[in-house]
Amino acid sequence: MDEIRIENLEVYACHGVYLEENRSGQPFFVNLILYTDIKEAASKDELSLSTNYGEVCHFITEWMQEHTYKLIETVAERLAAAILLKYELVKEVDLEVRKPKAPIGLPFGCVSVHIKRGWHQVYLSVGSNMGNRQGYIEDAVAALEKDTRIKGLTVSELLVTKPYGGVEQEDFLNGAISLRTLLSPKELLEELHRIEAAADRRREIHWGPRTLDLDIIFYDKLVYEDERLIIPHVDMENRYFVLKPLCELAPNYRHPILKKTVNRLLQELGNAE
Ligand code: ATP
Ligand code: CA
Ligand code: CA
Repeated sequence: MDEIRIENLEVYACHGVYLEENRSGQPFFVNLILYTDIKEAASKDELSLSTNYGEVCHFITEWMQEHTYKLIETVAERLAAAILLKYELVKEVDLEVRKPKAPIGLPFGCVSVHIKRGWHQVYLSVGSNMGNRQGYIEDAVAALEKDTRIKGLTVSELLVTKPYGGVEQEDFLNGAISLRTLLSPKELLEELHRIEAAADRRREIHWGPRTLDLDIIFYDKLVYEDERLIIPHVDMENRYFVLKPLCELAPNYRHPILKKTVNRLLQELGNAE
């Protein structure tokens, strides 16, 4: 991706753990790379098709002066999110916040925090087989849409499917959701668990009846596993109720491990519900 760079923007602000730092302030320096596509703006020589770096510098300055945080970690994290939310053409930012006058009491060059943050393409699967199934799914979609760190949400058609995994229970209503998010996989899972809890989801029988189930199917092309989270979803290729709605949103999305598109996985599984 193309880059727009801002180097050593100096901002006098009041971030710090000590009261004196919050009162008197000190200089901070910001290095920023905006990852964006400049091709169209370049070919038309048109500023409105690009991201105005002058405006970004003023935005950073005002933002850093309006807020006061103890940690430069927090400054970097929240400033990166603020830039990504404000400048729609920016897909990723590389941000360094430097604090050369930090009160350390020893001779040193500079301390700094350096992060990379961006928008991620995510596909979720959603299901319900208790009570007002459509209502639970609609509420979940509304809750996701309300989160400012989530954008561009699209929902597939919902389909009625037979329960999976052998437990005798009501039919399911299933769908897929596409969205872009600033949340990390772990933060997204926590958000999904909060939304499930708000729908009164209880985990009693494994693969048993539930008001709402939200699973992460894909997160960019990430392959990830820990004790609480596996991405891509470990059993998605065997589930018609996942693949069928997902195929409506992302037929050509390629599974990063199986190296097959969603469309191909669906065809290979066949129509068995
Ligand atoms: P399945 O994961 O086979 O569809 P389930 O959705 O019924 O089963 P849950 O009880 O909803 O299972 O979730 C059990 C745990 O699975 C969650 O607490 C979560 O930590 C973990 N998990 C692992 N990978 C994922 C993922 N990709 N999306 C959602 N949860 C996941
Ligand atoms: Ca599930
Ligand atoms: Ca689940």
